[in-house]
Amino acid sequence: MDFFDPHIHVASRTTDDLALMAKMGCVVVGEPAFWMGYDRGGVNSFHDYFRQLTEWEPKRCAAAGIEHYAWMGLNAKEAENVGFAREVIAELPAFLERPNVLGVGEIGLHKCTRNEVTTLLGLIDAALASSQMMLFHTPHLEDKYKGTRMILDVLADDRRVDPARVCIDHCEEHTIRLALESGYWAGVTLYPTTKATPERTADMVEMYGPERLLVNSSADWGPSNPLAVPEFIATMRRRGHPDSLIRRLVYENPLAWFRQSEHFRFAPARAT
Ligand SMILES: [Zn+2]
Repeated sequence: MDFFDPHIHVASRTTDDLALMAKMGCVVVGEPAFWMGYDRGGVNSFHDYFRQLTEWEPKRCAAAGIEHYAWMGLNAKEAENVGFAREVIAELPAFLERPNVLGVGEIGLHKCTRNEVTTLLGLIDAALASSQMMLFHTPHLEDKYKGTRMILDVLADDRRVDPARVCIDHCEEHTIRLALESGYWAGVTLYPTTKATPERTADMVEMYGPERLLVNSSADWGPSNPLAVPEFIATMRRRGHPDSLIRRLVYENPLAWFRQSEHFRFAPARAT
């Protein structure tokens, strides 16, 4: 089955991973800006990273037969230094115009500090000032509910926000309803152990339905699996769900989500 992986860190994946993903049916990936395994020492490092996501990774993916799209932003792990963040945010407008960029992301909270919130407000403002879609990272484990709540409160306070152009990612059982109820897209990340396994994600589909739900591998530096979406497809089939429902989750939903960006030009091979 053809599928999208709407949130995957291709920069941390090998060429072999990309070939395998394509073989399993991956046609489009979305790569949000993220942490590169170390805190960057200057704004030039971000500049080069944004070039990597808009120039090099699209070529690597294209060689495997996969279309690559990117999100520009400053991740929450490096958002604590507000002055530095401001310099990075100033880099964004030029990159947001690049042809494979869908919007601002992933942005959000990590430890939910006051400085992180200040940086987040700057990033949201940069996105809304140029009518960009936004992709939000929500914190891990014990901070998940609190951080998600804080992000949703910030968004609710800004009248410029159109929920249909926002995705709250890394949702779990205790946060997915918050995102969906407010009209946002909800991303579920399929990790082998933390975040949500394919089985737990299937449970969530059975509880909340497929509307505005996205599934992704997020495959990055930690234990993660670039074939997590195909694993989810297999899990859903084992449970007896029809291919029409599965296809909606792994193909039609991300297509509708990405299509809101004028930069998205993927032409489906068959009618959807
Ligand atoms: Zn990510």
